[in-house]
Amino acid sequence: MIGGGIAGVSAAAHLAPLADVTLLDMESTLAYHTTGRSAALFVVNYGADGIRPLARASRRFLESPPRDTTEAPLLSPRGLLWLASSDQMATIEKLAAEGAESGAGSVLVDAERARELLPVANPVWVAGGLYEPSARDIDVAGLHQAFVRMTRRHQGEIRVGERVASIEERSQGWAIRTTRSTYECDVVVNAAGAWGDQIALIAGVGPVGLQPMRRTAFMVPGDSGFSAWPMVVDADQRFYFKPDGVQLLCSLAEEEPSEPTDPRPRIEDVALAIERINEATSLSIRSVNSQWVGLRTFAPDREMVIGEDPDASGFFWLTGQGGTGIQTAPAYGSLLASLVTDNELSDDLMEAGVDPDVTSPTRLRM
Ligand SMILES: Cc1cc2nc3c(=O)[nH]c(=O)nc-3n(C[C@H](O)[C@H](O)[C@H](O)COP(=O)(O)OP(=O)(O)OC[C@H]3O[C@@H](n4cnc5c(N)ncnc54)[C@H](O)[C@@H]3O)c2cc1C
Repeated sequence: MIGGGIAGVSAAAHLAPLADVTLLDMESTLAYHTTGRSAALFVVNYGADGIRPLARASRRFLESPPRDTTEAPLLSPRGLLWLASSDQMATIEKLAAEGAESGAGSVLVDAERARELLPVANPVWVAGGLYEPSARDIDVAGLHQAFVRMTRRHQGEIRVGERVASIEERSQGWAIRTTRSTYECDVVVNAAGAWGDQIALIAGVGPVGLQPMRRTAFMVPGDSGFSAWPMVVDADQRFYFKPDGVQLLCSLAEEEPSEPTDPRPRIEDVALAIERINEATSLSIRSVNSQWVGLRTFAPDREMVIGEDPDASGFFWLTGQGGTGIQTAPAYGSLLASLVTDNELSDDLMEAGVDPDVTSPTRLRM
């Protein structure tokens, strides 16, 4: 398993009872890259068509994770309010139609109801919105740790500080050389996030066209009185914010192509997000406590890439998690494990309508 973000540990946790698993990450701590930089929301009505069944199929695990893997609930109430100005109401109606199909239980709200949900909404700016009460906050560190515990419980090994430098196909299986050691294995799982195509290339496998995209986030001073607010997202995704303890987590919600790297925030991106949030609300944000950027990595059709490469036996992809890799992790970890072993999908995957063809890497090779 290459990569110890949420994708790698989820797959390791699901595979460890069925196979000998070793997970390698180049950093000295796990979840240092995108996984440690998310907004931590669970929301069914979001992302490409194939993402929504993966989110639905993850709900049961998130609501009741396996015994002794967590110390606190992984989900807590939040709600999501898509907020619209008068010229964004068409976008809200489209979102509402998609929400109805996904079974998210979202409801259209007028300006008055939007201002009940978000008392600081600017009455001149807000025209209405779409409210999804079932959206939840996810304890990302708790979820990541649960997968680590499940992996170790079944003798899976986790090694940090090991950058994969070369991958060689052998007559039987693969040889992986890292900065510290060499490993031989039957199956390689590429869960390297923004570096997914680079890992393929060093293995002599064709890339699938992954594109990492920057997204800026930052914390501003808040108030414990904000804690009941939903997460608030601009209808055209030009900003979002949500309470986080006594702070507000804010984002420009941008998508700007990047190389796979450890990206740094820019003052102008933070300033633009603040300008937009201050226009839509009476928050009058003036100072920032902390700021960061994460890379959300997408395949060309924005579906995830999960399964065996059609041209490289034993090389499995688990990439393209984009902006939904936390909330879907229990489902895609389970899907990956079934594709590596017996192709038997779990009840949760079947009931949610997960279709492995939608996420198969084969679709990107036609
Ligand atoms: C601002 C922001 C908000 C978000 N909000 C949400 C949200 O609310 N809900 C949600 O579900 N998702 C959200 N996401 C998306 C989510 O964070 C990602 O989809 C998810 O974290 C991707 O996980 P990953 O394991 O694929 O990638 P990563 O966490 O980046 O992990 C990849 C790992 O591979 C390792 N690696 C790479 N190359 C090598 C190598 N050569 N050798 C060894 N190791 C290597 C890296 O060190 C890294 O640890 C958000 C993302 C951002 C940036």
